[in-house]
Amino acid sequence: MSIVHGLPESFHAQAYDVLVVGAGYAGVVAARSLTERLGCRVCILERRNHIAGNAYDCYDDAGVLIHLYGPHIYHTFNKRVHAFLSRFTDFSNYEHRVLALVNGAYMPVPFNHTSLKIAFGEERGEALYQKLVQTFGMDRKVPILELRAQNDPELDEVADYVYENIFLHYTLKQWGQTPDQIDPSVTGRVPVLIGDDDRYFQSPYQGMPVDGYTKMFENMLNHDLIDVYLDVDARDIIYISSDYIMVQDAPFLGEVIYTGPLDELFNLDLGALPYRTLDLQFETLQQDWFQPVCTVNYTTSEDFTRITEFKHMTGQNIDGVTTILREYSKSYEPGSGQTPYYAILNQTNNALYASYLERVAKFANFHVVGRLAEYRYYDMDAVAASALELADSIAATR
Ligand code: FAD
Ligand code: UDP
Repeated sequence: MSIVHGLPESFHAQAYDVLVVGAGYAGVVAARSLTERLGCRVCILERRNHIAGNAYDCYDDAGVLIHLYGPHIYHTFNKRVHAFLSRFTDFSNYEHRVLALVNGAYMPVPFNHTSLKIAFGEERGEALYQKLVQTFGMDRKVPILELRAQNDPELDEVADYVYENIFLHYTLKQWGQTPDQIDPSVTGRVPVLIGDDDRYFQSPYQGMPVDGYTKMFENMLNHDLIDVYLDVDARDIIYISSDYIMVQDAPFLGEVIYTGPLDELFNLDLGALPYRTLDLQFETLQQDWFQPVCTVNYTTSEDFTRITEFKHMTGQNIDGVTTILREYSKSYEPGSGQTPYYAILNQTNNALYASYLERVAKFANFHVVGRLAEYRYYDMDAVAASALELADSIAATR
């Protein structure tokens, strides 16, 4: 394995069987899986100056381990993904917990039995909880939009409260739209939970890579047949002609795995795929702790959506100092140097994406995978699953 910055003069793409664009989950999982199965030579081009994509972590000036592109908590139901990643790291037993700050009171999110009693008082909260259990059953997860559609005065009381105090303002800050205006799958990620489980995720496998995500990526890339070139924008050497995927001005007949935004490959000529980006503001404080749990969602106040305090999730043992992160969401402007963090899923944008996809569909050796290239709201495990499936399908054709 080698990881170098920039392309050396001697770089010759044709020396590789597989060219991967992007060193995040999509690119690195696909690269490792393919090279192990096929014994092929893989080259990864990454335009940032580091590996690990948006999961990158590093130590800040105060020595606190932070996630430079926002808080990342590993969780999955997928046995295959977990088995694959576990070859490259051990995971801690961290379980993520989130509190919403609602008009000065903390309550668990997903909104659950405890939240109901904090919001409505012990007695009324319990009565409403019993009504929820009768209607939906114990341990059910009910998306807020489904709860709102019930047409029952008591359930409406709960639905109105949760909609107004947990979802409305947070969603307006995050997406610039109300929960009814965005794709239902987005608020469906954080359903009302009829039960006492106060964890953010109910997945059987969850935790944090014990030495961090970047180290896990280094281990995945540690293979004789994988070379990584950082600070290289693949578009400087790759373009799509009418008949071929061209690399360094020659047709490339190996496999190309692309994990960047699809519109960028075509200079946005059909229009830009819309995204939300984040303004991430880190602050280091000279105190042991800032807040009671890793993440507090500001669901009724402030301009930022949430504050994350990293030490809670990393388990780092360091006294007298802590680093927190405030996330401000805004519209992404292509070409401005911002990072496209969240695809904005709706019919129009999905159709635009499909038009771009159509243009690469005819190339059997060109593959798109990942959160950007598939224009999906994927978590890390879903990206890893998609990359493993892609490796399956490429391996099957060789
Ligand atoms: P990326 O990580 O974006 O990697 C793509 C890489 O391709 C980038 O490094 C980019 O620089 C590179 N690239 C693009 N174009 C080019 C080019 N032309 N040339 C060279 N390189 C290029 N998931 C979870 O499971 N749990 C969480 O708690 C969680 N929290 C998140 C918080 C935030 C704020 C965000 C935005 C996402 C979060 N995610 C979380 C999702 C997670 O970040 C993604 O699922 C995952 O990192 C996507 O991996 P990827 O490889 O598809 O994309
Ligand atoms: N959401 C909300 N209030 C919350 C938590 C989530 O309104 O307290 C909504 C919001 O629209 C958000 C979506 O649910 O964008 C998904 O939340 P999640 O925590 O999964 O977002 P991510 O961690 O991916 O930013």
